[in-house]
Amino acid sequence: MAKANFDTPALQPHQETPDLPSVKPGAMQHLKTFPAKPLHNENIGYPGELVEDWQNKAVKRLGELVDGSQALRVFLDTCVKCGACTDKCHYFLGTKDPLNMPVARQDLLRSVYRRYYTFAGKHFPKLVGAKGFDKPMLDDWYNYFHQCSQCRRCSVFCPYGIDTAEISMAAREVMDSIGVGQKYCNEILAKVHKIGNNLGLPEPALVDTLEGLEEDVEEDTGVLVRFPVDQKGADVLLITPSADFFAEPHIDGLIGYGKVFHQAGIRWTLSSHASEAANFSMFIGSNDNLKKTAMRIREAALELGVKRIIVGECGHAWRVAYSFWNTLIGPFDFLDPKYPAPQHIVEFTYDLIQRGALTLNKEANDHRRITFHDSCNVARASRMGNIPGGQFILPREVIKAAANHFFDMAPDTIHEKTFCCGGGGGLLTDDLMELRVKGAMPRMQALQQVVEENDVNTLVAICAICKTQFAKTLPYYQFQGDMITSLHEVVGDAIQLGTKE
Ligand code: SF4
Ligand code: SF4
Repeated sequence: MAKANFDTPALQPHQETPDLPSVKPGAMQHLKTFPAKPLHNENIGYPGELVEDWQNKAVKRLGELVDGSQALRVFLDTCVKCGACTDKCHYFLGTKDPLNMPVARQDLLRSVYRRYYTFAGKHFPKLVGAKGFDKPMLDDWYNYFHQCSQCRRCSVFCPYGIDTAEISMAAREVMDSIGVGQKYCNEILAKVHKIGNNLGLPEPALVDTLEGLEEDVEEDTGVLVRFPVDQKGADVLLITPSADFFAEPHIDGLIGYGKVFHQAGIRWTLSSHASEAANFSMFIGSNDNLKKTAMRIREAALELGVKRIIVGECGHAWRVAYSFWNTLIGPFDFLDPKYPAPQHIVEFTYDLIQRGALTLNKEANDHRRITFHDSCNVARASRMGNIPGGQFILPREVIKAAANHFFDMAPDTIHEKTFCCGGGGGLLTDDLMELRVKGAMPRMQALQQVVEENDVNTLVAICAICKTQFAKTLPYYQFQGDMITSLHEVVGDAIQLGTKE
């Protein structure tokens, strides 16, 4: 690994109420994610570069967003500066920069909102902390709204439920509207619009990759497990993150999905038109791009004539699917009403296990001592199955059905209080590696406890971003990078192929 030009935080023993770190003002002021090139912005409908009269245009766009969202207005008007959120952000805990305290991050936008859209802010700006939108403020917005993974952990602890993620999304939309976009998100979104996935992987390459996967699995198991693409009349359309097609450990999860479909005898297909579950439009707060990106999935489902849509292991994609698809690309009246639309792959596998449709050999995973990382967008922004807390229960039940050794991390670091992996919200880019490593610290601290107390050697996740982030950051904390494992790899390894055929 190349030597990092920053220090990895030292891990301390986990404490339920940790001491507030001493603050280091300006500690992350230098970290500016790569800006989008003009073409990246233009390809997704924004001005290529900073527009003339940008201050007025930004303030106008902010006003439109506040007028269009009662929630955003309440979040901006309600904060009483109680301080309950200050030490709840993994980026503050890992970097000690006070502008990474959720309330301080919010105030970057709130102070501008107050200056232009409140009576007190217009007439007595200093009294109410109202500030004009000038270049230093724009620079702080760019840096610190790209140091928020929109994980919503802070909102769980706020007595008013103020959601910094929504404020961060609004800030990014305002910046995009004046030509100040982020390279990572905007470049990727253009690829999805043009080709159908984040990687820009064209159909022939996708088909090739999947054929290679079929050969590999047949060589390993002696059974031909199909990974079909564009199969008209299949029952299920699987929408999965494109990282599943090539990255580690993602691809082992895809193999697991294939084994589940194979053993359950369900006809399924991927789509070359909609070969991506991820929808980075949410990260930049762009409703137009959110809809345009999701629409490919409706088109593919109609074209292929499927009865169900199942979403693979991807955290924010599940939030978009669960919370927004119906409004964006519904109604799903063309699908079979017997099944949830959409359905999560974990919910699907859980249901098969409940019905005895899968034969799982737990002993096949006896070399694994497993813990589970709840991904933010699944834990705090969606549900799974038809039981309250299903998004916490179902993944754990599936793991326990497939493996003998499972250990949860400390209660204040899981379920709705889970810590972000440090790479969500459009921050999974190497130019933000310092932030990613430091932001991973609270999760690493909780992991260290179960490693020491329970000999845990496997960290399971159901999010493509979490998997990539952990594969890269675990070694910074002296853990093995390959500890991170797809949930459906654990399932796939336990499936006894052939027994239900
Ligand atoms: S949403 Fe997450 S990353 Fe953003 S301020 Fe809150 S805790 Fe931090
Ligand atoms: S917890 Fe809520 S009300 Fe309190 S400072 Fe944070 S955002 Fe404001």
